[in-house]
Amino acid sequence: MDPFLQCLRDALGGDRVSTVPADLATASRDESDLPPVAPRCVARPVDTAGVAAIVRACRDAGVPLTARGGGTSLEGSSVPSPGAVVLDLAGMDRVLEASVEERLAVVQAGVVFDRLNERLRPTGLFFPPTPGGSADAATVGGMVATDAGGLFALRFGGTRRWVRGLEVVTGDGSVMRTGCRVPKASAGPDLTHLFVASEGTLGIVTEVTLGLCPVPEARRRGGWVLPGMPAACRAVADLLMAVPDLAAVEVVDGGTVGLFEGAATGDARAGDLLLVEAHGRPAEADAALAACLEAVLPHGAWPLDPAAGDPWDLRHRLTRAVRESAGGAGVVRTDAAVPLPALPSFVDDVLERAASAGRRAHVFGHAGLGILHVLMPLGGPGAWTRPEALGEKTRLCARAAALGGTVSGEHGIGLANREALARGSAGTLPWLAALKAVFDPAGILNPDKVFDAGGGGA
Ligand SMILES: Cc1cc2nc3c(=O)[nH]c(=O)nc-3n(C[C@H](O)[C@H](O)[C@H](O)COP(=O)(O)OP(=O)(O)OC[C@H]3O[C@@H](n4cnc5c(N)ncnc54)[C@H](O)[C@@H]3O)c2cc1C
Repeated sequence: MDPFLQCLRDALGGDRVSTVPADLATASRDESDLPPVAPRCVARPVDTAGVAAIVRACRDAGVPLTARGGGTSLEGSSVPSPGAVVLDLAGMDRVLEASVEERLAVVQAGVVFDRLNERLRPTGLFFPPTPGGSADAATVGGMVATDAGGLFALRFGGTRRWVRGLEVVTGDGSVMRTGCRVPKASAGPDLTHLFVASEGTLGIVTEVTLGLCPVPEARRRGGWVLPGMPAACRAVADLLMAVPDLAAVEVVDGGTVGLFEGAATGDARAGDLLLVEAHGRPAEADAALAACLEAVLPHGAWPLDPAAGDPWDLRHRLTRAVRESAGGAGVVRTDAAVPLPALPSFVDDVLERAASAGRRAHVFGHAGLGILHVLMPLGGPGAWTRPEALGEKTRLCARAAALGGTVSGEHGIGLANREALARGSAGTLPWLAALKAVFDPAGILNPDKVFDAGGGGA
């Protein structure tokens, strides 16, 4: 028996450390299309002491460690570092406390987003950031580690806004508690949010104290077909002037809608979609939707056929539908974000360049926040070659950064956005690397992600 594996088994119990090929295969990939990397083993702790014991064993042996929640990263964040132990947190899925009075929940990091909100339903509260099509698998720990956002981040912000405190195991195996239960603190520099979006490179989140929000009394959804994506994007600023607290403003290009031939989208099937959702008391939400209609009409909007089904259902399925359309060849993607005034020309440029090259680019996203998902399929009709798509991705990320936006609005850096981050980081990377050395002196925590600019990735 390998002494290192024996040490992990002694720490957790024999059945909680697996080298079974099927387990290694599952842990070797995430929902990006990056090549799998087989881990050394999969460790499944059930408590913080177990996590700390695994971190210490890895530190002493100099073995890398990649935390894994639901494995739904689209950027390779949860693909294991070479030779790594995968720390699978799915077993740490308890909701430890839910307080209506304080509007907070304390949860273990492995609880799945949908399960948490199901558990909270009787309280009338919910945890708002919604990681779209992965809500049934993404964990709160993974959402903290990527600052996941989604449809409602426009009104409610991303995960960051809701994190009040954390329990974290740092790279030397110490257990640290940050933050507090109250919603506002000025007690020195904010360590809690340093771990948000750190993708398992600074510490392992074991417990999260989350603020919660009352479930809105009424939700109203509107959808229109617009004469082109630039027009849809131009309408966004007017929508947000008319109704500043809209819950969601989404765009979907007609080519992507076209993947759902036969889906219940009625007249929208061939058009570019603009979707909104308003929350509030029933009369407020109705008034918000009426104001949205007034704002979009001058942009040439016409209504979706209400009998034709729910375009939001389609919205939730886009990421996986585009991937399926590539027939297993994969996609190269960006989730860059740009300031609203630049959104129409950014979109126009993406679609024009793809069309003139005879390539298929799928563009959709959280337009109210300037976040656009651009997916370039490597298989199926209008497929890109990988070098072409990576070149286009590099160009788009550089453009987004130059416009004052970012190379990732919500999916994170992982492996696939490392180079783009390094190019657009404006000198911050050395400071981030210095921080990593403080929290992870042995450099074992997901070491090839975020900070390491080497390598390419799709
Ligand atoms: C169909 C689909 C739709 C999606 N839509 C959205 C969307 O709308 N918005 C959005 O923001 N994202 C979206 N995502 C991306 C993804 O779901 C999010 O990034 C999510 O937060 C990842 O959670 P996870 O538990 O699966 O994390 P994983 O993929 O397991 O891990 C992600 C990163 O977090 C680290 N990590 C995981 N758990 C911990 C922990 N406890 N402590 C420290 N580090 C940890 C991992 O090491 C890795 O670096 C989508 C993904 C898919 C497949």
